[in-house]
Amino acid sequence: MSNNIGILNYNKNQLIKLFNNIGLPKFRATQVLDWIYNIGCKSFHDMTNIGKELIDILNNNYYIYRPTIVKTDKSIDGTIKFLLQLKDNNTIETVFIPETNRNTICISSQVGCAVGCKFCNTGYNGFKRNLNAEEIVSQVLIVKDYLNSWTIQKNIITNIVVMGMGEPLFNWNNVSIALENLQIGNTQKISTKHITVSTSGIVPVLSKIINNFDYNLAISLHAPTNEIRSCIMPINNLYPLNDLLNTCKIYNKLHNKLITFEYLMLDEINDSERHAKQLIKLLHGIKCKVNLIKFNSWEGDIYTGSSMNKIEQFCKILNKSGITSTIRCSKGQDIMAACGQLQSQNK
Ligand code: SF4
Repeated sequence: MSNNIGILNYNKNQLIKLFNNIGLPKFRATQVLDWIYNIGCKSFHDMTNIGKELIDILNNNYYIYRPTIVKTDKSIDGTIKFLLQLKDNNTIETVFIPETNRNTICISSQVGCAVGCKFCNTGYNGFKRNLNAEEIVSQVLIVKDYLNSWTIQKNIITNIVVMGMGEPLFNWNNVSIALENLQIGNTQKISTKHITVSTSGIVPVLSKIINNFDYNLAISLHAPTNEIRSCIMPINNLYPLNDLLNTCKIYNKLHNKLITFEYLMLDEINDSERHAKQLIKLLHGIKCKVNLIKFNSWEGDIYTGSSMNKIEQFCKILNKSGITSTIRCSKGQDIMAACGQLQSQNK
């Protein structure tokens, strides 16, 4: 038998079943997962308490996946952007963002993206395929390897955002297995409170999973009206604002958590005082905060980012109305940290 099964593709319950099928008790699955997600083992040979017989079974049937790091770019602000190569030579991006009181990793869920937002370099490059669970979870594992952070003291990844390349709700099955696996073990686990899933608003999927959706929800909103949103995010034609915001209200009721609305500030498109007032009206009744994002320009883009002055004015209007609004400092501008840029640059 060849070792062709990626063990990272399974969540705990699935692995327990697989082990059960070959006569192994439940605690063996727990031990193996602990080695993988708590200790960072990349080889079954290093699992010193599971016995030679099990090591042989694992080696004959399974492998522990890591992508290849093709390139890293480090910003002066500490942000590190990774270009990772997968087994079929496709590449994806992962970004490590260190801050004063937390360290976030931004992971990708697809190779490319089919949503086609007009301001996004990934959308511009089109969609190739979904990532499988091992390709999603291994982005976190390989960054931990790179940062040499596999000890209790050095557990330096505190937050995860699924906000890289791709639309996670178009690949929810695999994304959810990966996120579940990141909560395995005690020392390295990242709780659901610190995991954020960002979506462009795939209403039917969100409605279906919303009851059990324990993560923080971020919505790429970027516009205060259907007219503007459909222009810059064609997905809005399928799932217009009214449907999306009604689903957000349900999330609010079920989970009692704030929703983050991401709002990219585009000059003359969505950044005037009138737009701010429209946004306040639109978000009325939703427990939320708004992240205003400065646009990172990329080769081939058709937009200009708003001036800092305009962003600050917009922010003030929202805050004055009672909607908490912050300006997200663009991290890693010097290394082309906007989604999809490193991949394009590498092509
Ligand atoms: S912004 Fe997100 S959803 Fe839109 S095209 Fe880019 S990756 Fe896809």
